[in-house]
Amino acid sequence: MSHAQDCIFCKIIDGEIPSAKVYEDEDVLAFLDISQVTKGHTLVIPKHHTKNIYETDEAVAEKVFARVPKISNALKKTYEPIGMNVLNNNEEPAGQSVFHLHIHLIPRYGKQDGFG
Ligand code: 5GP
Ligand code: ZN
Repeated sequence: MSHAQDCIFCKIIDGEIPSAKVYEDEDVLAFLDISQVTKGHTLVIPKHHTKNIYETDEAVAEKVFARVPKISNALKKTYEPIGMNVLNNNEEPAGQSVFHLHIHLIPRYGKQDGFG
């Protein structure tokens, strides 16, 4: 696995920074976002460090995106939202603040969830 120095998410993968894990396998990790936009807000990341979608090869993309349905369904079961946003921000103008590819899963609970 390629790791980048000073990457927060690589440190989470290594366990140097604690996280609330939602799902883990050989290639992919999902954990709760530290700043929960809604209850259950989760980030899905490849264990192989890649900056964002532009620098992600197909083999890595296949693995990380393929896990999204399973992890979304696990969140649906746990948190019982009535919808789910799947988002990916690339580069600063698009809202990317951590430069290790990640997919946001944001459970939605209706008008009262305060998001969007
Ligand atoms: P971006 O803005 O790059 O799309 O999303 C980065 C996300 O990472 C943000 O929602 C932010 O709250 C989350 N985040 C940043 N640092 C940490 C951390 O140390 N732990 C966890 N669990 N989430 C983090
Ligand atoms: Zn990284």
